[in-house]
Amino acid sequence: MENKILGIHHITAIAGGAKRNFNFYSKILGLRFIKKTVNFDDPGTYHFYFGDEKGNAGTILTFFPFGEGIQQGRKGSGMATEIGYSVPKGSLEFWIKRFERHNVIYNKPDVKFGEKYLTFLDPDGLKLELIESKTTDDRKAWETEDIKIDVATKGFHNITLTLNNIKATAAILTDVFGYKLIDQEKNRYRFATPAIENAAIVDLVELPNERGGHVANGSVHHVAFRVKNDEILMHFREVIDTLGLGVTTQIDRQYFHSLYFREPGGVLFEIATENPGFTIDETLENLGTALKLPPKYETSREQIESLLVKIN
Ligand code: ZN
Repeated sequence: MENKILGIHHITAIAGGAKRNFNFYSKILGLRFIKKTVNFDDPGTYHFYFGDEKGNAGTILTFFPFGEGIQQGRKGSGMATEIGYSVPKGSLEFWIKRFERHNVIYNKPDVKFGEKYLTFLDPDGLKLELIESKTTDDRKAWETEDIKIDVATKGFHNITLTLNNIKATAAILTDVFGYKLIDQEKNRYRFATPAIENAAIVDLVELPNERGGHVANGSVHHVAFRVKNDEILMHFREVIDTLGLGVTTQIDRQYFHSLYFREPGGVLFEIATENPGFTIDETLENLGTALKLPPKYETSREQIESLLVKIN
C-alpha cells in the first residue's frame, strides 16, 4: 500500500447552540446527520457529525456545539477560514432561493479558478461556499425531501487556510502530503493532490499583515487529512516527528484513528484513517439516531444525557 494522503478526511468547527447547529446543517443544508456523540475530551458537550449517506471521508463536517453565549471567534491568519462544498452545475439558483427563504446570509455568486461559487454564513458566522466544480464529481449526494440529487452537496471541494506567509505550510503540503501547486489567482494559491479525485484541494491565501485569528465560536478548529489505514497513519507520524513538529501519539476516535500536529503556519492538522467508519456502533440505516458514547463513558450515560440539550 502506498503511503498517500487522500485529500480531506473531515473538518471540525465550533458552534454555539446545539439545536440551531443541528437544524442548519441537517435541514437547511441537507447533510445527513450521521453521528450524535460527545466531545471525548469534554463529555458534557456534544460532538455532531454530518456527511453523506455513509459518512465517507471527504464529506464529514463535525461540530462541537458548546452552547449559547460562548466566545465568538475572529477570522485571521493561522486558521482555516472557508469550507468549500461541491454542488452540481446550475444549482446555485436553487441555493440562493433557499437561503433567501431561511434568512441565511450570503454573497452574490462570483467566480474563482473558473468555477462559480456562492459564499454564505452558518448561524454562528462560519464561512462556507458552494462551488460548481469544473471537474467531474461522481460522489453520490445525500438527498432530503426538499433537496434532491440535482442540487444537493456532494462533499468537500476544498478548504482555505489564511496565512501570513504560505511558504512553510506549502512545503508540508507538497513535500510531506504529496500535493502540487496547480493554480494561482492573486494571493490565493491552489494546491491539490493527484492521489484522489475529490476533496483534493487546499487553497492557501497569503495575507502578510493579517493579525492572528482566534479559534472560538463560528470558526474551524482543525482540518483532518485522510489515509487508508493505521500503517500509513504511523508512516506519516514518523515523517512529521522527524520534522520536529510535535505530533501526538495515535488516538482512538472511535470512528477513525488519528494523530494531530500544528503545521508551521499555525493551523491544527489531523491525519485520520478510513477505518473503522461510522457503522461500527450503528447500522447504516440508523446512523445519527441515538446518542453514542465511547465505552469509557457508557457507565456515566445517565449523567451525561442529563447535561445535553435535546435536539430532535
Ligand atoms: Zn478531527
